[in-house]
Amino acid sequence: MRSLYSQLPSHYVYTACQDAAERAHSFLRLKRMGRARKPYPEVRNVSIWLDDHLWRAEGLTSISLATHKDRVRVSFELNKHFLRYVNRGWRLTSEARVKLDYKERRLILYLTFKKEVSEYRPKAYITVDVNENAEAVLVDGVVYLLETDLSRVTLGYYYRRKRVQEKYDRAYGPGSRPARRVLRRLGSNEKALKREIRWKLAALIVREAARRQAAIVLERLGKEPAKGMIERIKDPQLRHRVYQATFKGIQKAMEEKAREYGVPIIYVDPRNTSRVCPIHRAGIVYGKDRHGVCSRGGETWHRDVVACYNLLLRALGSDGGDAPSRVRAFVTVDGGPVPLGPTAAHEPTDVPRALWARWRSLGARATIN
Ligand SMILES: [Zn+2]
Repeated sequence: MRSLYSQLPSHYVYTACQDAAERAHSFLRLKRMGRARKPYPEVRNVSIWLDDHLWRAEGLTSISLATHKDRVRVSFELNKHFLRYVNRGWRLTSEARVKLDYKERRLILYLTFKKEVSEYRPKAYITVDVNENAEAVLVDGVVYLLETDLSRVTLGYYYRRKRVQEKYDRAYGPGSRPARRVLRRLGSNEKALKREIRWKLAALIVREAARRQAAIVLERLGKEPAKGMIERIKDPQLRHRVYQATFKGIQKAMEEKAREYGVPIIYVDPRNTSRVCPIHRAGIVYGKDRHGVCSRGGETWHRDVVACYNLLLRALGSDGGDAPSRVRAFVTVDGGPVPLGPTAAHEPTDVPRALWARWRSLGARATIN
């Protein structure tokens, strides 16, 4: 290969061999599994990978490539995502790869960023309990109930689509073109709205955590949408959609934001987090509208406040039942008095979506109210 292409820098040969070996390897594996249809592997799309010997970054807006005619400089347009990383102190690494897309006549850059970080020692915890239509966030002894309406949005669009479909099917017959167009528009509206809600919420919480140098505590979700709250939705597909939109989707958005800011996330077991009183470890008897009474202390609790504090206790690894460690935990977490006196109002602060969507941080609430 080297003597065939002596005019090229040697690493073109090197990466081509690497690529060929990888393809052959996966072909052999498919053949062993009986899933290869042809006796030999065939190459349909040619793409060339450039390793770090063949390209290097020239500042932030261009790269230079080694070719048979010396180095060629290629500048690229910066997108928002790229700038966001660069502005936060992330730097390009040499692990990035460049692909020459022969068919489309373009260069695709796969960039990898790295950042030197000092060890993030969480000084506090922000616990997040995700519900169907709201997210309860415990920050510094205050539980905010940030409304998301994600499940209502999903259900609303589901029924709207159904109505539209029935109407168009009656008028034009099933699967008509105008029906498909309307349904597609509804679908993309729904997606955009949900995405905006999720990202704004994730950004708000993660920024707050970064500002306080706090870790975020989340429930560990299972694979199946078996979350008790949405079990009443009978249609399994719809149940899955609500689950993805509210629980999985919010967690994913939060994970990605947290990675960007370097904020750690701690996952805890979500079992029974709203059933037991965080102070007395006794059962809570729930009545209507998400309020319940502690069976030992007799104090009133809002379900989401209970869940938030129990998640916090689990994160601290101290819900084994001995009171001293719990009290100590709260004192160190809040840096102040124990917030859970039996007479305290265990009520969350309700925040409608229209309000929190305009907040820059949870700490800025005083100036807005
Ligand atoms: Zn109690």
